[in-house]
Order: sequence, then structure tokens, then C-alpha cells
Amino acid sequence: MRFGQYRTHDAEEPWSGVRTDDGVVDLATAGEAAGVDVPRRTVDLLADWEWRRKAELAVEYAVETGVGVRDPADLTRAAPVTDPQKVVCVGLNYRDHAEEGDHDVPDEPVLFSKFPTAVTGPGSTVSWDPEFTEQVDYEAELVAVVGEEARRVDSEDALDHVAGFTVGNDVSARDIQHGDGQWVRGKSLDTFAPIGPDLVTTDEVGDPHDLDIWAEVNGRRLQESSTAELIFGIDELVSVCSRAFTLKPGDLIFTGTPPGVGVYREPPVLLEEGDSVTVGVEGLGELTNDCAFD
Ligand code: ZN
Repeated sequence: MRFGQYRTHDAEEPWSGVRTDDGVVDLATAGEAAGVDVPRRTVDLLADWEWRRKAELAVEYAVETGVGVRDPADLTRAAPVTDPQKVVCVGLNYRDHAEEGDHDVPDEPVLFSKFPTAVTGPGSTVSWDPEFTEQVDYEAELVAVVGEEARRVDSEDALDHVAGFTVGNDVSARDIQHGDGQWVRGKSLDTFAPIGPDLVTTDEVGDPHDLDIWAEVNGRRLQESSTAELIFGIDELVSVCSRAFTLKPGDLIFTGTPPGVGVYREPPVLLEEGDSVTVGVEGLGELTNDCAFD
């Protein structure tokens, strides 16, 4: 199943929806009519141990009756998960990227984080003050979305705690990231964590370690690799995180980026007002955001 989040107008809190041939099913509305309590936001839905079954029932009911089916033309997309408790990121996790930079392959994943307020959705604007940062960069990433809470899980059981996957752009202010000596500020500007378009459940993704991944700026392809190049797989990352801290439903894990980011290119490609950035992962879709100064 592919869960998106949508708004009917600007001020509305985003709600969880599933696209069908008839339109977008508003899960909470269809669920209520079907006698099933479905939380409005995906982050709350994932905390319900019956979330898959409840979503299926709501969709079945909506398709049969038309209740809760919305015309996509009336809707704006939001991030598939909003207000996660954590956004965990992994540095240097592609073999080809490590080789390109002549780095040793790390023995343990290097974790850092973006603050959840950075999360934004497909089609929204990534914006920054050009006097605050002059080196804004893109990073195409496969993002794992946590389902069932995970604490001290082994890697064999780790994928049971992943609800699904989405595409993310780990937008980075390189001058701040490198100037600060640690990364959280340069990685956490508002709008610097676009994700989407959908949360695609694990059963629809197949092998998450064999997916093409790419990034394009203004239509020019600048990153192209495969998640087969991941040094630490999703199972290992979930397990390693869960040994240190509890992963909660809706938490996001940005799993690292392949070679080709802008700052290390010759000449560098840094994002400017008016640029359009598209990141994509095979089977998950593409996420496009325009850039603007604010
Ligand atoms: Zn990254």
C-alpha cells in the first residue's frame, strides 16, 4: 500500500490517504463510516498495531461506497510522515561514495540527526536565507520509516519494525555543516528534509537493497547509484539504532547518499534560487522541490 498525506486547504493539518483509481481515500473519514477508528495522521496510524488491517478496511469501504474518496485535483500533498519524533541520518554509507572520496569503509555506521521541524513534502519549496548559508547541497536518500517500536532488536528481526520506505533529500548547508564541526545545525534548517511522495509499505518494495537511486538538478542527472552499494543495510541500521535509543512509530532513518553531491563536484554544483531538485528511488517514485531564498 502507498500512504500519502494530503491537505484540502493550506491551514489544514495533513491527513493520511491512499490513492485508488477512484481518487484519494481519506482513511480516517472512510474508517469512521466503516466503524473503524483510524487516526488522521500517519505517525499516529503507525502506532496502532493493527494499522495495516485498518487501512485496508477503510480503503475497501471507500471503494465500495464512495465515502471518504476525494478528488486529487482538490488536494495538496504533504510529507507522507509529519512530526516524527526523530530523524536519524547515516553518514558515508555507500561503498562507491566512500571509494570516490578515498575514505576507509567505516566499521560502524556514523549516525547524526536532522530536527523533525526540517521535514517538508513533495512540491513544497526548500528555502533559506542566502546571507545565512551560501553552500546548499542535495543528497538523494532511501528513507526507512519505522513501524513497530524497536528497542534492542537483532538485525534478523529488524525489518519487522520497518513500516515502509520513502524518498528523501538530505538538504545540507555545507558551510555551516563543516564550519560548526558537528552537523546538526547545517542539516536542520526548516524545509531541509523533504520526503515523499508516498510511504510505500515493505511488502510492495521487495528487496530494499537492490533499488536504483538518483538525483537531478534542473533535469541534469548528478547522482546515480543503487542501494546495493549500501555499506550498512536497513536491518543493520535499525538494529544499531535500537541498541542506543528506542525507535518509535513514524521515526525516519535517512540511510545515506551515493556519490555525486554538489560540493565535491568539479566545479561544485550548489543550489540557487529557482533551481528544481528531483530525487528518486526505483519503485518509490520521485520527489521534486523547488528552491527559493527567504
Ligand atoms: Zn545524508
